[in-house]
Amino acid sequence: MSPENKKQQKALKEKKGVTGEIPRVNPHFDFTKPQKTDIGLYVSEIKKGNIVYLSKAITLIESTRENQNKKGREILKRLLPHTGNSVRIGITGVPGVGKSTFIEKLGAHYIDKGHKVAVLAVDPSSSITKGSILGDKTRMEELSKNPNAFIRPTASGNAWGGVARKTRESILLCEAAGFDRILVETVGVGQSETLVHSMTDFFLLLKLAGAGDELQGIKRGIMEMADLIVINKAEKDNISTAQIAQKAFQSALHFYPPKESGWKSRVLLASALYNKGIDNTAKEIDKYMQWVSENGFLDKQRKEQEKYWLEESIKNQLLEKFYTQKGLQETLNNMKQKIAANELTAFEAADILLKQFG
Ligand code: GDP
Repeated sequence: MSPENKKQQKALKEKKGVTGEIPRVNPHFDFTKPQKTDIGLYVSEIKKGNIVYLSKAITLIESTRENQNKKGREILKRLLPHTGNSVRIGITGVPGVGKSTFIEKLGAHYIDKGHKVAVLAVDPSSSITKGSILGDKTRMEELSKNPNAFIRPTASGNAWGGVARKTRESILLCEAAGFDRILVETVGVGQSETLVHSMTDFFLLLKLAGAGDELQGIKRGIMEMADLIVINKAEKDNISTAQIAQKAFQSALHFYPPKESGWKSRVLLASALYNKGIDNTAKEIDKYMQWVSENGFLDKQRKEQEKYWLEESIKNQLLEKFYTQKGLQETLNNMKQKIAANELTAFEAADILLKQFG
């Protein structure tokens, strides 16, 4: 051993107890605690309509990282007094019916009238297939260039309704940023229409005229939800088939029980591509909003939606905690095997799992 490496020769002596890596950050600093100044900046910028901060806040809301999400929720909480001032419009229809074309035109119509338009999407398929029906193509190119429009692709999330919750919170953030027409688009996957219906004031169903079979293939519950049905692509040679479809839908609507809002849904024709029927749609939405504002239904519906989201939120958080708790997934797989082998009933298995969870 060379002399300089001999223990007693070392200039730097190790002190007992200070071994290991020296922390580079203040160990007493709690990073999970939201930084007040930062949150304050978000709040004031969003109130000014700053889209960059709005976008970042939505990303925080969407984040699955606890501290990020917490920050997002804190921002939302502070902005809550500035929410609620919009018309929330849900739009559904099968892929290809013309939703993005329609939204592009309806959005432009609103902007022409001096409104600010936000377009959000609920596409639960994105969490299942990791690709999305709504998000894959270049959508709403014109609208996305407009400074008075804000377009946000669907949130990704797990299968526990997280996507919908995030969209609902995004609606509130958009409202705080001054967007007064919120269009929430969805495709009919699973419960997506019900979820969008539970976060919007007005529900629009886009349809195509078929060969006399318009009413077939309509998912249960959709007709009851719709405050307006619009038959799209009603132009040129297609006009007479569209009119037949219009009559078929209009008479079918008579067979449904009256709506709690007292509103009588109508069926209109449109051609989004040729910008026809968009103004009529906007007028119908205005009429509806006036109707439900005057008769108190709007208020009542929004309050009920709040309650619904409270319960959904509890359910989702519990499920999320359950499925991410350490070791539970293993027990769950175990239980599944036991149920398959007839060694346990599903109820007994659930009991065991919940005991482990508790
Ligand atoms: P989405 O999948 O429901 O969003 O439908 P898109 O808006 O992407 O439209 C699907 C296709 O239908 C596109 O090629 C559009 O150009 C076309 N399209 C949309 N609206 C109309 C319309 O009113 N008339 C015609 N002829 N085509 C339309």
